[in-house]
Amino acid sequence: MQTLAQIAATVAGYDPQALPVAQAQDFIARLVPRVQAVESLAIRSALGRVLARDVVSPINVPAHDNSAMDGYALRFADLAAAGGSNLPVAGTALAGAQYPHAVPPGQCVRIMTGAVIPTGLDTVVPQEWTQLAAEGQVHIPSGVVQAGDNRRLAGEDLARGEVALAAGRILRPADLGLLASLGQAEVAVFRRLRVAFFSTGDELRSIGEPLDEGCVYDSNRYTLWGMLQRLGVELIDMGVVRDEPAALRAAFSQAAACADAVITSGGVSVGEADHTKQIMAELGDVLFWKIAMRPGRPMAIGRIGAAADGTGAMLFGLPGNPVAVMVTFYAFVRDALLAMSGATPAPLPVLRAACETGIRKKAGRTEYQRGIVSQGADGRWTVRITGSQGSGILRSMSQANGMVVLRHDQGDVQAGDLVDVLPFEGLI
Ligand code: AMP
Ligand code: MG
Repeated sequence: MQTLAQIAATVAGYDPQALPVAQAQDFIARLVPRVQAVESLAIRSALGRVLARDVVSPINVPAHDNSAMDGYALRFADLAAAGGSNLPVAGTALAGAQYPHAVPPGQCVRIMTGAVIPTGLDTVVPQEWTQLAAEGQVHIPSGVVQAGDNRRLAGEDLARGEVALAAGRILRPADLGLLASLGQAEVAVFRRLRVAFFSTGDELRSIGEPLDEGCVYDSNRYTLWGMLQRLGVELIDMGVVRDEPAALRAAFSQAAACADAVITSGGVSVGEADHTKQIMAELGDVLFWKIAMRPGRPMAIGRIGAAADGTGAMLFGLPGNPVAVMVTFYAFVRDALLAMSGATPAPLPVLRAACETGIRKKAGRTEYQRGIVSQGADGRWTVRITGSQGSGILRSMSQANGMVVLRHDQGDVQAGDLVDVLPFEGLI
């Protein structure tokens, strides 16, 4: 296992006092371990879980060439080039059974969608293009099909031996169906990540307690709970921890002993009078960063409670401001927890939207503004910033449906300029 100092040495331009977002993400990606334990689950219980091993198809899906339409199966070579053809109908092929007879040359078979195409036949003419003719014959106009039309080939969905789903995939509804189509009742997934979290700060009160002078209700634990719940991890809510060395020491030790990751909010900014940073440093290998971003500048990152045997947990010490908690979670913690869960998710879609107003922006830091994106009648996306962007104004996050991401090198935005918007949908 690399120490934090060793990782820092490999990150280009590493400066803990003004760390660009991309470098911080890169650093964290090198730091996080992946869970190893695998469990086998019934496929319905595996929705949202991370596939631990490639699923290789044991069969061809579909197993046989079959018809894509209700109609008539025939040999394309039996159709006349001009003037249409009348073919005798030898019988009917139903879904779920093999047609039991050989079909004589020059004849066709009435066939249902999904029925196995009888041996020797190669093309299906949809029923609506045919007419019944005299004496058990069907009339097929010329030119309505080409050879092989309306025939689904064996293995065209999945061929035997092909990787149907790759390890690292977060299982979605279509994947459950795909597993079922292989006849697979169970699937191997990584065990769920265990994440402990608590809030620090003497001004915090829990719901149900009186709000004393100068105090605020602890809201971070609720937003964190929501984001973690959506990520599908196992949660260990440790409440509000008093700003006392003994209480902090006990909370960090207990969290590190039972969880893969520990997330705290508050107490990591410069000039904090409290003991949070001190206890983090005492119990772990922890860096205190100032990230070139807004909101969310201070953040602690590292390993805590790490013994020589590799136990202990990843530590994410997030800033206390309610918006900063969410932004740093989305920018860093989300991807880190997904990687720890064994997932290799596809990159999130980013919308390019025209900004309704200008925004003042200094190059040299990443800014996350809360925005409401909507689509105009012309199909183009526009984004409006949600009022005051103070990092304590949680309502801005609640009103928004996405974050406008102003990139590190970007300067001022003029009204009408296209900006990147990360929709909350999909972000969790
Ligand atoms: P800190 O990062 O500890 O300096 O906190 C920054 C600001 O966030 C202060 O105004 C805190 O009162 C506020 N804050 C810290 N933790 C929480 C929390 N759990 N819920 C709501 N506000 C918080
Ligand atoms: Mg504080």
